[in-house]
Amino acid sequence: MKSFEELGLDTSILKALKDAGYENPTPVQEGTIEWAVEGHDVLGCAQTGTGKTAAFTLPILQRIVGRNDKGIKALVLAPTRELAMQIANSLRDYSKYMKVRHTVIYGGVSSYEQIKNLRRGVDVLIATPGRLLDLHNQGHVFLGGVETLVLDEADRMLDMGFIHDIKTIESLCAEDKQTLFFSATMPPDVRKLAMGILNDPKQLDIAPAEQKVDRIEQELFMVRRDRKRAMLNHWLENNPEGQVLIFTKTKRGADRVEDDLQEQGYRAVAIHGDKSQGARTRALGDFKRNKVRILVATDVASRGIDVDQLPYVINVDMPENAETYVHRIGRTGRAGASGKAISFCCEDDRDILHEIEKHLSMELTKTTDHPFVLLDNQLAEVLEKPQRGGRSGGPSRGYKGRSGGGGGSGRYGGGNRRGGSGDNRGGGDSRGRSNDRGGERTGERSGERSGERSYGGGSSNGSSFKSKGKSSAGAGSAGGAKKKFFSGVAKKKN
Ligand code: AMP
Repeated sequence: MKSFEELGLDTSILKALKDAGYENPTPVQEGTIEWAVEGHDVLGCAQTGTGKTAAFTLPILQRIVGRNDKGIKALVLAPTRELAMQIANSLRDYSKYMKVRHTVIYGGVSSYEQIKNLRRGVDVLIATPGRLLDLHNQGHVFLGGVETLVLDEADRMLDMGFIHDIKTIESLCAEDKQTLFFSATMPPDVRKLAMGILNDPKQLDIAPAEQKVDRIEQELFMVRRDRKRAMLNHWLENNPEGQVLIFTKTKRGADRVEDDLQEQGYRAVAIHGDKSQGARTRALGDFKRNKVRILVATDVASRGIDVDQLPYVINVDMPENAETYVHRIGRTGRAGASGKAISFCCEDDRDILHEIEKHLSMELTKTTDHPFVLLDNQLAEVLEKPQRGGRSGGPSRGYKGRSGGGGGSGRYGGGNRRGGSGDNRGGGDSRGRSNDRGGERTGERSGERSGERSYGGGSSNGSSFKSKGKSSAGAGSAGGAKKKFFSGVAKKKN
């Protein structure tokens, strides 16, 4: 492994990295920084949590260090304002010992301050595509001097309908620019976009999902849809310590969970696309500073949440697809810390459960020794593996029957890795499309009704359930070998 010094970075950058406590580059940094400093285009398949922000920020700084010429030299495009702000914060930290002017622009707020900042002069611009184009069209931004273009979370940008904006912005930058293209996943539409933009790129495939997920203990509570609320209270009562990030499918679901938790006396706050930018920023800040214990978020709003040492992620509603599951649980177990991801799997979640297990090539630990467990027939149905073109008819390999009496562990599976299981993709493409300014997916909106069923149907006595016993939640283990932080070996191509 190379050190940061060996990657050809200026001493001012090295000093800032030392202050940040970074001892060695992560695999994505080791790969990308060298290539980018040499001037290559890069296509990186890397998720949040792998250190990719520094991977593209440090080469940008390296190219700028010591320069006095004016104009935007580097442009970073990100899908959401949260992520854009996160990148800006990292850039500020890494450039603290050099003279670099940067600013961040995103939609949903007045553009007045942003225009003022642009006028003052900017070396590095971080932006969401919609607002950037708006300001460009109004004549506030000149991109012709952009030498380095970064696309961060390209898959998510495409998901949000930004493809045309991205193409337009790319064409406005200098023709001989360098492009660094990052995406957590590389479906065909993303690869096509990449290949249309990149020039003979160096390719890097970092940390397959399973590798990172291995550091995270995962547990599924097999719970009735109408008892999720009681289940959440039960779990929180038995786990009184540690910050928790809760995911819901819908904005209304997030509000409902927030209200419930606040009623119970928890310090909880929700973020989603209908909250004002100020409220979202405040909520994130309070969560990072541990002023609130519980943050409730929808998928889009959660992008850019970067809290080191976050011990728990709870999926009150299962995500729409396996990749989102990996994104969600990747919020814990960051920067070398271990973490735990808990998911409430209800009678509606058969397809997504099997899709996730197939994606991860592992069976997740399933806990049933709690008061809100699925009925026997529901449990059997959820655990039954879907077959291509219809149901299998028989019980799945993962289902070993209810544990008998008090002695049973109440867990199924156990995180044992195995090869590909039967085909279980029944759901088709669940990606939503949205208008590209608001940043909230219509997929989420269309899920509104099911979210209502998922959270809120709970019986009123659910919240009064008090368990004195030790929760099953604390003891579960996903098993499987735990891997060291950033132990993933980068698969370099090219
Ligand atoms: P990212 O994938 O860029 O969101 O980074 C994930 C987390 O890893 C952030 O909290 C970074 O501060 C941290 N990080 C990035 N690079 C390193 C490194 N080389 N050593 C230690 N932590 C790092």
